[in-house]
Amino acid sequence: MAAVTGNDAAFDRARRIIPGGVSSPVRAFGSVGGTPVFIERAAGARLYDVDGREYIDLVGSWGPAVLGHAHPEVVAAVQAAAARGLSFGAPTVAEAELAELVHARVPLAQKVRLVSTGTEACMTAVRLARGATGRDLLVKFAGCYHGHSDALLAAAGSGLATAGLPGSAGVTAAATAQTIVVPYNDFAAIRAVFAELGDEIAAVITEPAAANMGVVPPEPGFNALLRELTSRHGALLVYDEVLTGFRVSAAGWWGLEGGVEPDLFTFGKVVGGGLPLAALGGRAELMDLLAPLGPVYQAGTLSGNPLATAAGIATLRLADAGVYERVDAASVKLAAEVTAALTRAGVPHRLQRAGSLFSVFIGLDSPVRDYATAQQQDTGAFRAFFHAMLAAGIALPPSAFEAWFLSAVHDDAVIARIADALPAAAAAAAAAMPG
Ligand SMILES: *Cc1c(COP(=O)(O)O)cnc(C)c1O
Repeated sequence: MAAVTGNDAAFDRARRIIPGGVSSPVRAFGSVGGTPVFIERAAGARLYDVDGREYIDLVGSWGPAVLGHAHPEVVAAVQAAAARGLSFGAPTVAEAELAELVHARVPLAQKVRLVSTGTEACMTAVRLARGATGRDLLVKFAGCYHGHSDALLAAAGSGLATAGLPGSAGVTAAATAQTIVVPYNDFAAIRAVFAELGDEIAAVITEPAAANMGVVPPEPGFNALLRELTSRHGALLVYDEVLTGFRVSAAGWWGLEGGVEPDLFTFGKVVGGGLPLAALGGRAELMDLLAPLGPVYQAGTLSGNPLATAAGIATLRLADAGVYERVDAASVKLAAEVTAALTRAGVPHRLQRAGSLFSVFIGLDSPVRDYATAQQQDTGAFRAFFHAMLAAGIALPPSAFEAWFLSAVHDDAVIARIADALPAAAAAAAAAMPG
């Protein structure tokens, strides 16, 4: 029997008092099995667990750590803010500064409201769209995740896919009855929905490049079609850039894509620099429907929290063109290494990218354009691949349905460390595949 590690002891203790031992389900390693790694600290591209073991991190807190962990200037900004007081429940100048930084990168976010989580941002975007249009129906795409509010927990991608759940208990049929779920990248299906119900639809919410069912980029013209249909029928288009925003480029996926002008955006992850902060932005006349100016209610005791705002400002100020160039370069290099190792081991796979985000669908070798196809990947082979990497000190996302996250400090030496671990992991995946 293997020795009991600090991680085992920590997991046992956590499981006795916290459901599943974790504060968010994917962290429990449910789909890959084994004991989750309990983190003590992180710096740059590296994590250190409770046993003092070092890992190269490819999760990046699921996106925020675009500068690498514990960037000294971000930490200093948070420390300085903490010394001035943790929370006031009153406005601060810093909130306007962060909102201005968001607007400077995404000018269509003419006004910005700060909230604490991506879930809240998306929930509020949906309420605002319904309030603005006076309509009830919402369209989302299968495999896209927009947080865990009731109306948006239908066919919601990674978290549920990882847990093997179609939806969530406790979400009433009434709560999702007004949510229409359409396959991603299905031009005919979205046209048909609008042909039948277009005048009752408040909004289409989409991940403009999907990254919560693995990485599934939009096919050319898909987002433009969403814009055309919503505009023609008086519905709103919401770009959920909680994951892609300020990560895949200075102006997120919208900045890479060009041309499509959504009405509302949601941001999270990078915008909070690793602290709990997210945002909703869009056309001024829509945003002004939010309380206190308008009739659409939204509020938060800790919204615009001064520590989180300081982390967001420092992160966006530091995330300059050079940062995005380094993240892009690291992504291209690592993706090539992964493809080469899997190919040499004879593992059929499909690596898909959306800007610097990528993921690998093991066992598939044709394009993955929707959730149904993503679910055909070989999660057993991924499990073997994941654990071989972890044993070599490389921490991948513990789910086959998640993107891999790089940072500006994943330099050539870090990529080389990861590349060293790939052949054995690819062999483990090959051994775990049927026949
Ligand atoms: C992470 C994520 C959310 C939810 O954000 P939380 O801060 O976890 O509530 C919403 N939408 C997308 C696209 C995400 O990736």
